[in-house]
Amino acid sequence: MSENYDLAVIGSGPGGYVCAIRAAQLGLNVVCIDKRGAHGGTCLNVGCIPSKALLHASEVYHETKSSSSMGINVDNVSINLQEMMNYKEEGINGNVKGIDFLFKKNKVESIYGLAKILSSNQINIKLNDGSEKLIEAKNIVIATGSESASLNGIEVDEKKIVSSTGALSLEKIPEHLTIIGGGYIGLELGSVWSRLGSKVTVIEYLDRIAPGLDGELSSEFQKILKRQGIEFIVGAKVTGVEEKSDGLSVQIENVSSGEISTLDSSVVLVSTGRVPNTTGLFDDDLGIQLNEKGFIKTDKNYRTDVEGVWAIGDVIEGPMLAHKAEEEGVAVAELIKGKPGHVNYNIIPSVVYTNPEVASVGLTEEQLNESGTGYKVGKFPFLANGRAKVNKATDGFVKILSSDETDQILGVHIIGSQAGTMIAEVAVAMEFEATAEDLAHICHAHPTLSEAIKEAALASDNRALHM
Ligand code: FAD
Repeated sequence: MSENYDLAVIGSGPGGYVCAIRAAQLGLNVVCIDKRGAHGGTCLNVGCIPSKALLHASEVYHETKSSSSMGINVDNVSINLQEMMNYKEEGINGNVKGIDFLFKKNKVESIYGLAKILSSNQINIKLNDGSEKLIEAKNIVIATGSESASLNGIEVDEKKIVSSTGALSLEKIPEHLTIIGGGYIGLELGSVWSRLGSKVTVIEYLDRIAPGLDGELSSEFQKILKRQGIEFIVGAKVTGVEEKSDGLSVQIENVSSGEISTLDSSVVLVSTGRVPNTTGLFDDDLGIQLNEKGFIKTDKNYRTDVEGVWAIGDVIEGPMLAHKAEEEGVAVAELIKGKPGHVNYNIIPSVVYTNPEVASVGLTEEQLNESGTGYKVGKFPFLANGRAKVNKATDGFVKILSSDETDQILGVHIIGSQAGTMIAEVAVAMEFEATAEDLAHICHAHPTLSEAIKEAALASDNRALHM
């Protein structure tokens, strides 16, 4: 006999679990299904949380070693990698338990198993104990997320040739880590292992790293990481990785000249993006359509082509970010309940959690130029910020792009210590359609790094005070 629900959510990542909780808050009878055997999806288990744990631990290690200029001398600083990994696992488990608690509190039923959608209201679940179960639901939300993209001819074994998942659990610190792909995931993981002592080389097909960033930020970012010891080979593609008796040999082709070279490496991280996860989720004749990149097609209200089946998060188009998935989770739950769910895609901040951090919201200079929008630039370097100076964190700057007609803020790009926290202020301002002048008028506490935001806003009108 099948069980009946108002809503079945497939996937308990940030999109799915948030959707399930919001729908339950709205009075729906909800079940959330995940094949992983732990809630939280990619983000919590093999993504955002474990990577931030290792970024934090490696940063503490690095800072401890290099704080003698502040009068702190610590002898014999060493790494116990197993303990560091245990610390990371504790962080994951604590957060997974948090979702278990929230599901109980909100009476969301949880099923661990592999879901396949049979019709607009029926799901077959292969339970993790091997048995099968059929459930029925008036609505189905697909939140099955994404997985690492593979690279032709390069087989990931999660030991020597790893995806981000393997790179979060290496058993020893690699002598030389080569990273294929200069996106944010590769750069964050490269920073971790570089701080722990690996030589790190990043190979990027395009002529710059983190290609989605504002160009000026991206080149400053590359310079800073290079100063920290990370090496970059840009405009190059990896054509193969060969296993040798003493490690790996990476074959590299220069994209413009075709010149071939090789690089010896102990571990290779394949970090060339992520692809939506729809394998085996439904048969083609069900009617759910994918676009040319494999993402599930929806209308602007997350409806797929099958009535009653919705999709959110990494499995649909848009930035592959946890907070984007969460916002969509809330919006779709409200839409299912007949409320006006909505996500403002113009204001989705993105953060790279390296040191310094890199944070952006809104449009880049390249996008403004492409659309022919007139804009002003207000920039302020952390070198001129008092707090950054005493913190010895003077790398980077704040850059505010605002309309040259109305002064409305169109995009803000920050590279600097705590940029990820600071970007929230401008996201709020932009949500309220603030102008650069509005930001310049706001009293910012002294001494804080955030004063650089006020100064950059003043600089839009050539009125920066500390520069
Ligand atoms: P997911 O989190 O991918 O969850 C989908 C879930 O669905 C999975 O648990 C999966 O097991 C389950 N599932 C799939 N198919 C089925 C099926 N047929 N039946 C049952 N269950 C199924 N984003 C940020 O915003 N900030 C960061 O700092 C950040 N860092 C990252 C670091 C790394 C190393 C990686 C890999 C990603 C990172 N991301 C980050 C991206 C973020 O993890 C994703 O954008 C986010 O997890 C997407 O959420 P989601 O709910 O769409 O899907």
